[in-house]
Amino acid sequence: MMKDNVARLTEARTRLAHQAPDPTTVIAGSLMTRMIRCNKPGCRYCAGKGKGHGPIWILSVSAGPGRVRQIPVPAHLKQDVEDGVRRYADMQKWLKQISQLNVDLLEERKKR
Ligand SMILES: [Zn+2]
Repeated sequence: MMKDNVARLTEARTRLAHQAPDPTTVIAGSLMTRMIRCNKPGCRYCAGKGKGHGPIWILSVSAGPGRVRQIPVPAHLKQDVEDGVRRYADMQKWLKQISQLNVDLLEERKKR
């Protein structure tokens, strides 16, 4: 006989909870590239329709309602930042899965 749904969902939730991603290095932000202008007179990269210097990597993080901090990321730290941003997304995905199980559990419990 099949296990009842509450027991099945509770087990799935326990299993998932034990698979928590490591939160140590999470970064809630996004990584992007941008060209920058040095504003030095006569710079051949910036003058006229020049594209400027770069591209450089920028970490964009929320700094309160409607505010964004943009932090230049040196090349040697880019991989770490990229990993942190991905880790944050993994964490969110994991939390959503647990939340979904809890919503399903709520529906099952209401049937009893
Ligand atoms: Zn320039």
